[in-house]
Amino acid sequence: MAQSQFDSVARSLELDEGTRQLLRHPLREFSFAIPVRMDDGKVQVFRGFRVQHNDARGPCKGGIRFHPLETLDTVRALSMWMTWKCAIADIPLGGAKGGVVCDPHNLSMREQELVCRGWVRQLAKNLGPTVDIPAPDVMTSAQHMLWILDEFEAIYGERLPGTITGKPVGMGGSLGRTEATGFGVVFTLREALNQLGIRVKDTTASVQGFGNVAQYAVRLYQQIGGTVTCVSSWDQQDQTSYAFRKRDGVDVDQLLAVTDRFGGIDKGRAKELGYEVLPGDEWLAQPVDILIPAAMENQITGDNVGRISTQVKVIAEGANGPTAPEADAALARANVFLIPDFLANAGGVVCSYFEQVQSNMNYFWAKDDVLGRLDLKMTSAFVAVSDLATRRKISMRDAAYMIAIDRVAKACRDRGWV
Ligand code: NAD
Repeated sequence: MAQSQFDSVARSLELDEGTRQLLRHPLREFSFAIPVRMDDGKVQVFRGFRVQHNDARGPCKGGIRFHPLETLDTVRALSMWMTWKCAIADIPLGGAKGGVVCDPHNLSMREQELVCRGWVRQLAKNLGPTVDIPAPDVMTSAQHMLWILDEFEAIYGERLPGTITGKPVGMGGSLGRTEATGFGVVFTLREALNQLGIRVKDTTASVQGFGNVAQYAVRLYQQIGGTVTCVSSWDQQDQTSYAFRKRDGVDVDQLLAVTDRFGGIDKGRAKELGYEVLPGDEWLAQPVDILIPAAMENQITGDNVGRISTQVKVIAEGANGPTAPEADAALARANVFLIPDFLANAGGVVCSYFEQVQSNMNYFWAKDDVLGRLDLKMTSAFVAVSDLATRRKISMRDAAYMIAIDRVAKACRDRGWV
């Protein structure tokens, strides 16, 4: 999928064959064994990966995931998407991704620590603030990042906090990281409404999910005058999702009081607070101006796109890959303005970049400073994409890919690689 997306944009950009060959594949791939003495005294060997897709625009950046079904091919695709994401946000970093084939549910904390330390020992020469900067991803946390950093610093005999991001505040983390992705979604949404000549305070929105991205997106959108009438979440007990509607606007703090740490809303208590509890997919059918899918991939499909109200004017993709290609085409025909995922949710990686900059300087900014800089970055990324989309009469998604790939191709040309 990553390569076919790339091929189609490469054709539109008329990239030469050498550049295509270079960008279609990662620059470097590491695949290695991590032997760990387990709690029962036996040695288990885990498979670790790091793929550095491209570093023409700056050191590589990307998460590390722990997953039992991790494959080198998945990591390759994710590393390529990281290259485009950093390029569209116009931060001076390239793309990478890493992983270990393991299931942390079945590992003790000590065993997880040894996996992290083993991972970095195999890669120490190829990581670092000027080379490649990992971050958390699926099933890895700030604790895993600190173990990796500690091992790296032990090997080099110095403090190098800019080696990794996603650290806790006070241990090299950045203020504003928690808010960054959700706020970033709303910065791009605000610009889209501005361009369409719609006042935020005249709009209503419905949001899928009530986790990190959704909570902060709802909060900021309501702060700037909008009204969220519906949010949804996954119910672990019932193994299904529910939508929670309040026509005069949901109250984030009130809902947070009845939400667990995984973003699951307690339906009984929400009902007591006056929310209507509806089937999960109702979030998509609400008569609102804006939809924000902020839960998971593949949620707006060919099958349900017809249920979207004709009132909807903007979709801001908070989640990664929430819209299937058939739905994308139907939304374009219906003239819905779509802010594509790797633009709308780039706030997280932009703030990770800020964390790295602060860690390198060992000087940490105030939260308002971080969020102000985030707004500037997100707004200028949005303007660049919407300008090209208007000029070339193409979709926002195609325009975003064209800008990102063109920036990376130019950096490769400027360096004399191709
Ligand atoms: P999270 O785990 O904090 O929250 C996920 C939310 O989605 C929860 O409220 C959960 O109940 C809900 N949910 C899960 N399945 C659902 C379903 N079928 N229907 C309705 N709700 C459902 O996750 P998050 O960090 O908010 O991430 C959400 C999405 O945004 C993911 O696609 C993630 O990859 C993407 N993303 C996150 C970040 C970030 O910085 N957190 C950055 C970029 C992209």
